[in-house]
Amino acid sequence: MTPGSAQDRSTGVLVVGAGEAGVNLALALRGGGYEPAILVVGNEPDPPYNRPPLSKDFLNSLVTEEDLSLREPQLYREQRIDVLSGTEIVALEVGDAGSGSAETTEGFIHFDRVVLATGARARELPVPGAQLDGVHYLRDLTDARRLRHDLDRAERVVVIGAGFIGLEAAAVVNARGIPVTVVGREERVLERVGSAPLSEYLVAAHESAGVDFVMGAQVSELTGAEGRVTGVRLADGRTLAADLVIAGIGAVPNIELARSIGLTCEGGIVVDRRCRTSNPHVLAIGDCTTTAHPHRPDSLLALESVQSAINQAKVAAMELIGGEEAGENVPWFWSNQASLKIQIAGVSHGYEQAVVRTSEKDSGLTVLYYLDGQLIAGDCVNRPSEFLAIKRALAKNMTIDPSLAVDVATPLKKLVSPRKG
Ligand code: FAD
Repeated sequence: MTPGSAQDRSTGVLVVGAGEAGVNLALALRGGGYEPAILVVGNEPDPPYNRPPLSKDFLNSLVTEEDLSLREPQLYREQRIDVLSGTEIVALEVGDAGSGSAETTEGFIHFDRVVLATGARARELPVPGAQLDGVHYLRDLTDARRLRHDLDRAERVVVIGAGFIGLEAAAVVNARGIPVTVVGREERVLERVGSAPLSEYLVAAHESAGVDFVMGAQVSELTGAEGRVTGVRLADGRTLAADLVIAGIGAVPNIELARSIGLTCEGGIVVDRRCRTSNPHVLAIGDCTTTAHPHRPDSLLALESVQSAINQAKVAAMELIGGEEAGENVPWFWSNQASLKIQIAGVSHGYEQAVVRTSEKDSGLTVLYYLDGQLIAGDCVNRPSEFLAIKRALAKNMTIDPSLAVDVATPLKKLVSPRKG
C-alpha cells in the first residue's frame, strides 16, 4: 500500500461493513463513552437499512424503501458517526497493536483499530442456466428491488431452497396470487435448523394456503428461451415451469479481507466470545463470523440473525472500550411467513429429545428441545407468550421438565424450574 494522498482519512475505529452489526457497533461505542472518530464504511450504494423486511413486507409492497432505514441519518450526525456508503475496502494492513490502514475505492484510511462486519452474500446456484434473466437472489436491497419489479409480471414462480428466506419469499409470492412451488434438496423444510414436527406444521400451513412443495429434489439445470428462464429441471428428469426463479440456498460469509490478513476462517471468521479473531487486536462481528457451538465444544456455529449481530456489536464495543458487557446469552430469531410468526430461542442443533405442544384451543405450535434432559431451545409458531417463557427460562439457566411440558393445558411459564444436577 502507498498511503499519503490528499484523500487519506484517519479514524479511531474503522468498521468494515455498514450493516446491522457495523452500525450497532458504532452506536454501542458512542453509548459506552468512546470519544475518538468512528468511521463505518459500506460497499452498498444505499445508506444502512434493515434486511429482514426484504423477503417479507418490502417484497409484498407493504413497506417503502424509506421504512427500511436502519436509523435516522440525523442520529449518525448527532453521535458523530461517519457512515460512508458505496465505498469498498479492498485491502487491509494491520500492525502489531491493531492499528493500520485500509485501501478503499476512494483512497486510504488510517485507523487505531479495525472491526470486520462484512456480513455474507447469497450463495449462487451452481447449475447451468443460473445466469438467465428471471433468476433472482435475495440478500440486499438491490436484489429485492429487482425481484419486486420482476414479480409484477411473473406468472409461475419456483423457489429453490426450503430455508427461512425461501419459505418467506414463497409466502409473499403466494399472497400475491402467483402460483409458486418450493424445491428443496433436503427431505423436509428447515431441516438444518428445526425438528420434523416444525417442518410438517409449516408445510401443512403453506400447502393449505396454496404453496406446492417438491422436497428431496436436486436441481440439475435451469432451462431458458431467448435468454429468460422457462423452467427448473430436476435430476429425476422432471421440469417445473417457471418464468421467475428465486434462489434461497444459503449465504457465503465475506471473509476475503480476513483471509488476506491471515485470520483463521472456518465457514466464517472464527471469533471467541469477546469477538476476538485469531489476531486478538482485530475483532469481527455478525454474519461473517463463526463461534463456539453452545452444545458441542469441538464445533463452530454461525448464528445468522439480527439478534446475534446486535449482541456481538455490543460485546465488541465493550472489548474496544475496555468495559465488561456480558451480552445476551440466549440466541433468538424470528421469521414471518404469511400468517405464521415463527420465534426461536436457543440453539436446538444437537438436541436428543423434542417435546411438541399443540392444542385444540389454538392453531399454534411449540417444540421444546432437550439435551441431557435439560431444555436447550424452543421453536414457537404464533405462540408469543410460550416463546417468552422459553427465552426467559434459558436466560436464567432454568429448564422445563419434558414430562410436564406435554401437558399443554398448563401455561409454559408455570412449568419453569431449576435444573437438576
Ligand atoms: P450484513 O447485514 O450483510 O452487512 C454487511 C455489510 O458489509 C453489507 O452491506 C456488505 O455489502 C458490506 N461489506 C462486505 N464487505 C465489504 C467491504 N470489503 N467493504 C465495505 N463493505 C463491505 N434475521 C433475523 O433475525 N430475522 C429475520 O427475519 C431475518 N430475515 C432476513 C431476510 C433476508 C432477505 C436476509 C438477507 C437476512 C435476514 N436475516 C434475518 C438475517 C439478518 O439480516 C442478518 O443476520 C444481519 O443482517 C447480519 O448483519 P451483518 O451486519 O453481520 O451483515
